[in-house]
Amino acid sequence: MFANFSSTEYRQTRIAYRNAIVLIRQAHYALHDYITIGRQSTVSTGDRIRIENALFNSFYYFERNNSSYTRRNGTNSNNRFLRDYGYSIDSISRNLNQLNRHATHYEVQRSWSDMDGDDFIRVYESSNDLNNVVNRIIAYSVRSRPHVHTDQRSREHGNIYLNSGFFTLSADHQIGVIIHEMCHTVLRFGFSRTTPNSNDTYMQDNGYDTMTLSQAIVNPDKYAQFILLLAERSLL
Ligand SMILES: [Zn+2]
Repeated sequence: MFANFSSTEYRQTRIAYRNAIVLIRQAHYALHDYITIGRQSTVSTGDRIRIENALFNSFYYFERNNSSYTRRNGTNSNNRFLRDYGYSIDSISRNLNQLNRHATHYEVQRSWSDMDGDDFIRVYESSNDLNNVVNRIIAYSVRSRPHVHTDQRSREHGNIYLNSGFFTLSADHQIGVIIHEMCHTVLRFGFSRTTPNSNDTYMQDNGYDTMTLSQAIVNPDKYAQFILLLAERSLL
């Protein structure tokens, strides 16, 4: 049982985490097939359009609106998008692969009943854990908190902290939040010097739509957006 979680909160968190893992895996395999020579013929036209539209509307939003490209309508099959943006799609694909491998590892190593507060920690507004949390933040993650958790896995990947706001979100939005936080804990976004916290721009923030491609590739909400769009889930 998660420490400090009510049974309803525990169930919501398990479902959101489970769905986040499934959607990450689906996105990973879809993009892998899309970009890998030799696999491309297995991607149906409908899937290709869905992938390109999801890429366009998340990572390439700024490019899309500031270049000669127009939104794909499915009539073009000459792989122009892949030819021109393949290098950056490859980076996105590698990051999805890391998220997927991490998720797979968790799933294999730990059955549902084994999940506990080492992965997700419920924090309360009155708690000291929430020292640096302001109203708009509903979840956060910390790379290393040896005074709280000392096992190796926690040090490696960090934990995800959830407060009351998380449990008021829609089911799809909760999935997006967990994907966002996994980008911090698994991909180290926001934890390295090259990707400072200042790049942790949220979907509703000014600047989200004008992010350059190189910024978008290391932005947690962009991955959450892409994965949810691909799965045709609502973003909020
Ligand atoms: Zn963040």
